[in-house]
Amino acid sequence: MDQVSVHVTKSLALIDQRFSSMRPCEVLVSGMAFLYLGQQVAALLRQGPTEIFENAKCVFFFYMRKYFGGLLGYDQAIAEATDSFVKEFGSKTSQCAQTFDRLPTAGNTREEVLSMCKKLAELNCDFSKGQYSGSIYHGGMDGYTEFINEAMGMHQWTNPLHAGQFAGVRKMESEVISMCVKMFNGGENACGAMTSGGTESILLAIRAYKEYAKNERGITRPELVVSVTAHAAFDKACEYFGIRIRHANMDPQTCKVDMKHLRSLVTSNTICIVGSAPHFPHGIIDPITQIADFARPRGIPVHVDACLGGFVIAFMEKAGLALDEKFDFRVPGVTSISCDTHKYGFAPKGSSVIMYSDPRYRKEQMYTQPNWPGGIYASPTLAGSRVGNVVAGTWAAMMHHGEEGYVKTSSAIVSAARFISKECSAIEGLQVMGKPLLSVVAVKSDTFDIYRLAAMMHEKDWELNQLQFPSALHLAVTNLHAVNDMEHARRFVRDMRDCCAELLLTKDEKATGSAALYGTSQQVPDRKIIADIARTYFDVYYDVNVDGRFEALTKSV
Ligand SMILES: *Cc1c(COP(=O)(O)O)cnc(C)c1O
Repeated sequence: MDQVSVHVTKSLALIDQRFSSMRPCEVLVSGMAFLYLGQQVAALLRQGPTEIFENAKCVFFFYMRKYFGGLLGYDQAIAEATDSFVKEFGSKTSQCAQTFDRLPTAGNTREEVLSMCKKLAELNCDFSKGQYSGSIYHGGMDGYTEFINEAMGMHQWTNPLHAGQFAGVRKMESEVISMCVKMFNGGENACGAMTSGGTESILLAIRAYKEYAKNERGITRPELVVSVTAHAAFDKACEYFGIRIRHANMDPQTCKVDMKHLRSLVTSNTICIVGSAPHFPHGIIDPITQIADFARPRGIPVHVDACLGGFVIAFMEKAGLALDEKFDFRVPGVTSISCDTHKYGFAPKGSSVIMYSDPRYRKEQMYTQPNWPGGIYASPTLAGSRVGNVVAGTWAAMMHHGEEGYVKTSSAIVSAARFISKECSAIEGLQVMGKPLLSVVAVKSDTFDIYRLAAMMHEKDWELNQLQFPSALHLAVTNLHAVNDMEHARRFVRDMRDCCAELLLTKDEKATGSAALYGTSQQVPDRKIIADIARTYFDVYYDVNVDGRFEALTKSV
């Protein structure tokens, strides 16, 4: 003890001596400056090397764009993209006789309005030809639209925000949630909420875990760990709610998350780990049990994103197509699941369910403001007022199909997807990504430019999803591809075979025009330019004068 106090006295004397030539105010100011600098350095170090590098890149490119935007072709890239978007939208609507950019002075009769509506409906794509990936998941069900419309019509003006006025819709909503919870084998505490779509379900789960981590675990610098293949809605949630997102690599062979990398990203600030069942890009199921086994002893919640394939994967066991991978609430440690009723549940768009293993998580998702002069305000989801008719449409869909109906549609859809996967893996030059067991089949090629295949298939009317990092395409198989002895799935395989055979003859050629977009955009180091181009798309989308711009554009060339 004496030894220590001697050392301390000596050190203090040394410090006094060191600063003896300075005025007290100088010592004070420099001390504060040191403290501030130290904090800045600590903040920088907390980011980790990848983020420091990314931030430096952002700053660098910001000045490049600011001072050399013209020289580097940045401005031109935006202008060219804008023109292509104007062409895309304008070519479809420029034949319309009129554009209404303001309220008509005198109202139109209901007949007139409906007749205009009908004309505009004809501009929408005819989805009965089976050329789309996902998008409209039912199809080939006679009279289904009329049936759903009728159910929704009866509940047209309802708003679940005012549950007192709309008791019927409240009952339907609680039943839809409960049915989904049972589909995923939730325990007696399991619960949930209906939302407007997968993105909202995901935003809410992440918001709940951020609050839960803050209130129960004292985490003030929240981090979320996901696979790179997790849906972009997780990135969106993190950006919206100020959470740091850590992306784990995917195994290039299996397309599942690389568990070793995932484990290395988990820290004491991790609020949740996400697995997908299956993920959007390649339709592959992450190792949910492994993720949960890792997270559970650490007290970290696990979210399973079953937005896409929820209504397929939940019925695989009953369809006699049991999967090796477990994914639902029976896996200890899985604390929430998102499942889109508006995909393979065949419900109208604007419908999804977020489920929790326990109400203590759901509680953290809700927003409350007890001090508002407008009243004690509370809302469980992002929206205030909500559409009750979608609740009714979803309830009607689920009551109509029932378990047997979904078992049938799921197994038909999965069989069609497995047929496509098997046939595609036999096509020369083409590789199926991972081992797809559900409804999505992704393909890549190490022989030819895969985006040329997308363009050729487009010529044959197919609209496939284009993927990147790595370059690939996918088809989300829907009920329409499965019905009539897989008529459309068979045509798809035939067209793929023909296109690939042609591509093999010219395998060294690169894609040109719009087909080259995805290939070249992956090589642009400044990702902000790509993001800006994507934003420009919506500037054009919202432009009421797009037809006029389209005509000016086509006249000028
Ligand atoms: C579609 C999808 C979502 C998001 O759904 P939206 O309904 O488009 O908001 C989330 N995760 C996966 C895997 C999806 O396929």
